Amino acid sequence: MIPAGSLVGMGGSETILESGLVDALRQMDIRLLDRYQKGVSKEAVDEMRRQGLSADVFICSSNAVTADGKLVNMDGTGNRVAALIYGPKKVIVVAGMNKVAIDVQAAIARARNTAAPANSLRVGADTPCSHTGFCQDPHCHPPHRICCQLVISESSMTPGRITVVMVGEALGY
Ligand code: SF4
Repeated sequence: MIPAGSLVGMGGSETILESGLVDALRQMDIRLLDRYQKGVSKEAVDEMRRQGLSADVFICSSNAVTADGKLVNMDGTGNRVAALIYGPKKVIVVAGMNKVAIDVQAAIARARNTAAPANSLRVGADTPCSHTGFCQDPHCHPPHRICCQLVISESSMTPGRITVVMVGEALGY
């Protein structure tokens, strides 16, 4: 799925790390925009985010996948959803079965009440949900907010551009 020599970007993802995919990508003959390398600066990660928007392949997870195949994501910076929507020639979305939600409403609830609190704790963000475990949207504003973009991807205008790989285990959150 990833041709040799490809410029490969990654969205921030616990799923990608847990799955061992980052380690595997590091062994490949590709130009990896490796935001997870040791000692990488915030400025370098930001530059990789920009380069990722025009990568050959972009790899990310999804906060939720509905039973009928829609992808639901909430982003802070928005580089992941931007790349998912347009830019990279190919997008590979990797998701554990714990990401499946019955419909869009349940998927948004999952993004707000499961993914966001856990991500807040992971990155040390002092969000309201990191204290309570559930979303308090009307009372949550930047800089203490990590959800600024809510994107529901219902379909792809370019056939075959997005591949969703469902992994038969729980990965990420
Ligand atoms: S909007 Fe705020 S409180 Fe709600 S999930 Fe996002 S960061 Fe947490």
